[in-house]
Amino acid sequence: MTLVEAHGITKSFGDQTVLRGVDFTAERGTATVLLGPSGSGKTTILRSLNVLETPDAGRVRIGDAAVDFDDLPRDKAARRRQIAALRACSGMVFQSHHLFPHKTALGNLLEGPVQVQGRPVDEATADARQLLERVGLAGREDAYPSQLSGGQQQRVGIARALALKPEVLLLDEPTSALDPELVGEVLAVVRDLAADGWTMLIVTHEVRFARDVADQVLFLDGGVVAERGGAEVLTDPREERTRRFLSRVL
Ligand code: ADP
Repeated sequence: MTLVEAHGITKSFGDQTVLRGVDFTAERGTATVLLGPSGSGKTTILRSLNVLETPDAGRVRIGDAAVDFDDLPRDKAARRRQIAALRACSGMVFQSHHLFPHKTALGNLLEGPVQVQGRPVDEATADARQLLERVGLAGREDAYPSQLSGGQQQRVGIARALALKPEVLLLDEPTSALDPELVGEVLAVVRDLAADGWTMLIVTHEVRFARDVADQVLFLDGGVVAERGGAEVLTDPREERTRRFLSRVL
């Protein structure tokens, strides 16, 4: 079943057009890897799905929530509601974790569910403890971010995104800010989540990891999806520009 649909997404910053009509779909329970040269628009795509950026045109649907950016409701409240409903469908994991420094690991996980979603504290706490265990941090619930390694902080970041119970997890180069020896533990968590059937869109330069997890690969170039396919895109690309890119990063 198709969970995520993006159609004709365009986005400019000033006079720089970054996305020029991005089209793709992602099936529920699959991992999609977005690859491409720096500046090709990968982050902007994830941010558009989560409406951290508002596309200039195009349509996005995740599950039952859809926004047509060519035809937004005129009424401000209706527009806000529509966008909030779409935003609630995805959870974002950033390059650097953006944790609240003055809150414990558990506190970081409770903020969204309790403050934003209004869930009961007891129930949210039980879920949050389970999620911390899920990312290998049982026993570290009361640690503050400064007491955790970069890899542990990023795993809290992943658990925090999951705590909002999104339909799809968006990971924007989740290991690029980490020291090399900490990359493995974070990728292992992402691999586990993929094996568990989480729907994920992942921007990464870790091609070997991408080969392991990708059900679908989108190669971005010049603001469009230049090649789309299964994991074979990483080993046997059809397009010359994909081939050139892979030969540079491998
Ligand atoms: P990628 O993730 O593929 O490296 P990005 O989506 O981060 O690409 O960025 C694509 C281009 O858009 C870059 O040239 C970047 O400088 C520009 N860009 C991204 N976000 C903004 C912004 N908020 N304001 C201005 N320019 C931006």
